[in-house]
Amino acid sequence: RLVLGIETSCDDTGAAVLDETGAILGESLHSQKEVHLRTGGIIPTVAQQLHRENIERVVHEALERSGVTPSQLSAVATTVKPGLALSLGIGLEFSKRFVRQHSKPFIPIHHMEAHALTVRMLQPVPFPFLVLLISGGHSLLTVARGVDDFLLLGQTLDEAPGDTLDKVARRLSLTKHPQCSTMSGGQAIELLAKKGDRMRFPFTTPMGQSYDCCFSFAGLRNQITMAIVKKEKEEGVEQGTLLSCVNDIAAAAQHTVAVHLAKRTHRAILFCKANSLLPSNSPTLVLSGGVASNQYIRNALSIITETTGLHLLCPPPQLCTDNGVMIAWNGVEHLREGKGILSPNVDVFYEPKAPLGVDITAEVKAAAIKVPS
Ligand code: ATP
Ligand code: FE
Repeated sequence: RLVLGIETSCDDTGAAVLDETGAILGESLHSQKEVHLRTGGIIPTVAQQLHRENIERVVHEALERSGVTPSQLSAVATTVKPGLALSLGIGLEFSKRFVRQHSKPFIPIHHMEAHALTVRMLQPVPFPFLVLLISGGHSLLTVARGVDDFLLLGQTLDEAPGDTLDKVARRLSLTKHPQCSTMSGGQAIELLAKKGDRMRFPFTTPMGQSYDCCFSFAGLRNQITMAIVKKEKEEGVEQGTLLSCVNDIAAAAQHTVAVHLAKRTHRAILFCKANSLLPSNSPTLVLSGGVASNQYIRNALSIITETTGLHLLCPPPQLCTDNGVMIAWNGVEHLREGKGILSPNVDVFYEPKAPLGVDITAEVKAAAIKVPS
């Protein structure tokens, strides 16, 4: 069985052809990162136009590299939710035309479910397992119980950690920094943080008084911005031109994000244990999403998994960020189970907002589990 996966939910146009074992037969990815770095954020109409310009080429490239013809495909899997409406629309319209033209089954994919299950492409991780997804648009803790069966333990109440790091990086004008000009905000902060002293900016970890598994980063971003403004004033420099202590601010920001993520995850693990949501034999935490490429954050989470006896798995960075491979893999998983497979003529719509699984965040909050600091 061969599946073509198509991803256009945000700012990456991706396509890939996978076989049933998860072997990548052909892949193509067009990233819009540089364009959006220049404009200081994603402009949806620009993202849409770039998807429109690239989708055809990207899909054909993936097919060509795989040596698979459209008629040999078993199905086409495409992200239809959640994401930017204008971006999702391009991938979906293309896919609808493609499946009708070649009379292929269509598998609509939930982008976050695909992120959560990517790890199973690399090694057999049995359900259920705990997942922390941290990216530019999301921050959530979920128990993956099956291909389309998820429990949502907590999610961000405001912005996502990648978004926060990107905004801090922009406030510090890190794209003008000689070493970071082509890096995402998160990557730039990770690099500068290596040379910084986090103790010089003791930011408060968010949500210390709420004993749930939700996240919040907007308040932290405000703390960081205030610290930057204060330093700019002290040094008498213009906004966004701070030179001293940039490394220290980066280190402190990264550290506080890591501690916040680690604490919520620790609570989620204790909640899962108390409610027997994970197997007692070799329970697993999967860490994914673009922010999961951060080594400091990975280390913080590995301390938590070590102390709680969980196994930590993290797909390689290129599979943590958006790509067509993970969408094709999610299609393979659906095909194996015979779930969510539509005929080529069924009308499908995209959904910019789409919850992930059964929401038990209130139950988690009510349990009010305390974690050691
Ligand atoms: P979503 O998947 O929620 O739709 P997205 O497509 O923006 O959002 P990803 O492609 O998974 O997210 O990840 C991009 C984000 O990851 C950016 O915000 C970027 O700053 C962040 N990021 C990338 N590398 C690192 C790193 N080394 N450290 C921290 N953050 C990073
Ligand atoms: Fe993503």
